[in-house]
Amino acid sequence: MKIPRLLLPFAALCAVVCAHAENIVGGPKGGRLLETEPLRAEFFVTPERKVEIVFYDAALKPVAPGAQSVTVTAEPAGGRVKLELEKTATGFLSTQPLPEGGPYRVVVQARADAEAKPRNFRIDLNLAPCGECQRAEYACICEGH
Ligand SMILES: [Zn+2]
Repeated sequence: MKIPRLLLPFAALCAVVCAHAENIVGGPKGGRLLETEPLRAEFFVTPERKVEIVFYDAALKPVAPGAQSVTVTAEPAGGRVKLELEKTATGFLSTQPLPEGGPYRVVVQARADAEAKPRNFRIDLNLAPCGECQRAEYACICEGH
């Protein structure tokens, strides 16, 4: 099969433009990909405003989290709310939606296992879509955001 010649310049252009953003990888579901260890985790807000955490292997295939765990704390102006999480096949889902309002900060605390040191990821929960990448602002992969 012949590759249409017309597409080649666009492919080359993308290779140049996209190289700038090589450190920013978007989550496959459209959420924010967190550099947790040993598996990477995606922070995703469902249409019901529930928080979903999905773990991925190196090939970004959803996998069971094993001993890896997270806690999710919303920090709206009215006070902190720690979300209850229930285990799913490939991560966690909050049993309650995120508090109304925003944007506010959400802290995801991740541990490789029960004994590991926790690592905090702070996310500004802005659900408005980014005009450039069309992802929600909290999951924006544009350079400089
Ligand atoms: Zn963007």
